Amino acid sequence: MNQLLQPVTAVKGVGEQTERLLHDMGIHTVSDLLYYFPNRYEDNRLKDLAEVKHKERVTVEGKVYSEPLLTYYGKKRSRLSFRMLVGRYVVTAVCFNRPYYKQKLAINQVVTVSGIWDRNRQTVNVQQIHFGPHKQNQEVEPVYSVRGKLTVSELKRIIRTAIQSYSSFIPENLPEMLRKRYKLPMKEEAVRAMHLPKNADELKQARRRFVYEEFLLFQLKMQAIKHFRRSSSRGISHHFDRKELQSFIDTLPFSLTNAQKRVVSEILSDMSSPYRMNRLLQGDVGSGKTAVAAIVMYAAVLSGYQAALMVPTEILAEQHAKSLSNLFSHTSVRIALLTSSIKGKKRKELLLQLKSGDINMIIGTHSLIQEEVNFCRLGLVITDEQHRFGVNQRRILREKGEFPDVLFMTATPIPRTLAITAFGEMDVSIIDEMPSGRKKVKTYWVRPEMLTRILIFIEKEVKKGHQAYVICPLIEESENLDVENAVTVHSQLTQFYQGRIQIGLLHGRMSQEEKNQVMMDFSENKVQVLVSTTVVEVGVNVPNATVMLVYDAERFGLAQLHQLRGRVGRGNLQSYCILLSDPKSEIGKERMRIMTETDDGFRLAEKDLELRGPGDFFGKKQSGIPEFKIADMIHDYRALETARSDAAQLIQSDAFWKDEQFAPLRDDLEASGVLSGEKLD
Ligand code: ADP
Ligand code: MG
Repeated sequence: MNQLLQPVTAVKGVGEQTERLLHDMGIHTVSDLLYYFPNRYEDNRLKDLAEVKHKERVTVEGKVYSEPLLTYYGKKRSRLSFRMLVGRYVVTAVCFNRPYYKQKLAINQVVTVSGIWDRNRQTVNVQQIHFGPHKQNQEVEPVYSVRGKLTVSELKRIIRTAIQSYSSFIPENLPEMLRKRYKLPMKEEAVRAMHLPKNADELKQARRRFVYEEFLLFQLKMQAIKHFRRSSSRGISHHFDRKELQSFIDTLPFSLTNAQKRVVSEILSDMSSPYRMNRLLQGDVGSGKTAVAAIVMYAAVLSGYQAALMVPTEILAEQHAKSLSNLFSHTSVRIALLTSSIKGKKRKELLLQLKSGDINMIIGTHSLIQEEVNFCRLGLVITDEQHRFGVNQRRILREKGEFPDVLFMTATPIPRTLAITAFGEMDVSIIDEMPSGRKKVKTYWVRPEMLTRILIFIEKEVKKGHQAYVICPLIEESENLDVENAVTVHSQLTQFYQGRIQIGLLHGRMSQEEKNQVMMDFSENKVQVLVSTTVVEVGVNVPNATVMLVYDAERFGLAQLHQLRGRVGRGNLQSYCILLSDPKSEIGKERMRIMTETDDGFRLAEKDLELRGPGDFFGKKQSGIPEFKIADMIHDYRALETARSDAAQLIQSDAFWKDEQFAPLRDDLEASGVLSGEKLD
């Protein structure tokens, strides 16, 4: 029998009543109990008071230096204070509502107290007191969360008993070779140390082990999925005329950057191979992903298939359709646009042509995944800004073909750390080079009082024939308020410029026709200043725009600001990004500073991730980013990379599939369903 799977009542001292309390906390078996780790630890290491900040928690050891003074106020409330000699400082220790400590304290006695340090009053507000010298095994103190009537001390006692009787049954799942390589403790030992750490270092080692283990198990699954996708030949081998493709590339109005050449060849080699491509293409705003998409879509068409490009907004769909039509105007490729605005007879015809194969390339929004849409031979699916689509939406589009190759494009420079976890089962191509000749966008952080001067500056730019975007304050909770803001800013600017400048307005509540009209007017310079909500965030391309003014910039994420900034500087004119912002917090200021200092999207993304955490990074909960119990993708990213490369090697090796030492890891893969192919698509 598996000792660890026994009910918690097997643990000495756990009766029915406690069992019920534990159940309420999700603890049913002995194993659940052993893995119910503290949710944090109090750091009780001794510190030099000179280095402790105001209001920080501190632990100090010292001698009682004055007779304790006890004062009551009210019946139950009391304050006990005494002075302590700590090294060369005399500090005051104050304990509230614990009058009984008084008898336990005597002058010259050594005590250790932990609490919040009030630097101004040189006082420790005592949370804990130990009537003796500091002990090493108190360095770190586990803090558990409990629910209901169970007390922390009771939980601690139960866990301690469980460890004594059962920890020797905890199976090791990491092979010795890996444990040795990274000097990781055995699992049994690590579980004990998580609950009863002898000192801070022991805890650190235990944590390191679990971080690695979690990452390794996760990465093994990702790598296994990748491995099986490659070895199963369910996919299309695209055969296309390379000369023909090259001559198309030669007709582009620019020569490809080296980065573009590299990613094109990565994608083409996936497409020619028999396995299904599952690749993420990352490239900063303006790095030229659309050209790459055009080339590889053409490859699909040349091999006799259809290609689909799905984008998150209608504006973007129209723009892509237009620029692709230009690029392919001298070829026989037939391109169509499908959005919800295309209705009636036109839509019917289009759908028929798509089904018959008359249309080679289709660009569209969510419309593409509707049931009525059928392809003749869909061979390549591209989604732009893929994180804006849910997993299901991407799957539906993919299933409109028979194992088509799939490419995800994103201009959100996803930090490597995140990309290799969240998208661990994908291959990643990165365009890490901008087309030459681009001028850096000059970025300024400006206080709201300066608005008038900024508006005058915009007018000067307009007089030079240039254009400007004005992005309105973002109100996440309410689209209505967003719209209201845009309308307000629009009328303020209208008043300010008194007809000297044409000002357009764009927001999510406008009809598609209205939006199109405004965008058209802006791209034809009939409108010089475009006031907008973040609708323009992705993809819009008006090279003549040189100013991006963002109101309340601190409300936006860095990645988002960077996207907005990417709307200007798209031609060879000097462009400006002006962040109007008066952040109250240090973090807010820090964010504005970073924006002015760097235009490296990847660095900004890393920073954004640090400041906001992965959950917020992609917005909402759709990201599909895995959550780990102990590991933290941001702070433990080195371990993550190590685990990934170890996992990749293991999956490729014969030993992994045969040797006894890897059996526990194989079992875990088996249990996840990865091996049976359930998760292949
Ligand atoms: P992204 O989609 O990555 O934001 P785009 O594909 O829209 O970028 O490209 C931005 C602009 O740069 C477009 O006007 C495009 O024509 C141009 N462009 C793309 N590749 C190159 C290149 N290799 N050299 C010069 N200009 C380029
Ligand atoms: Mg693009």
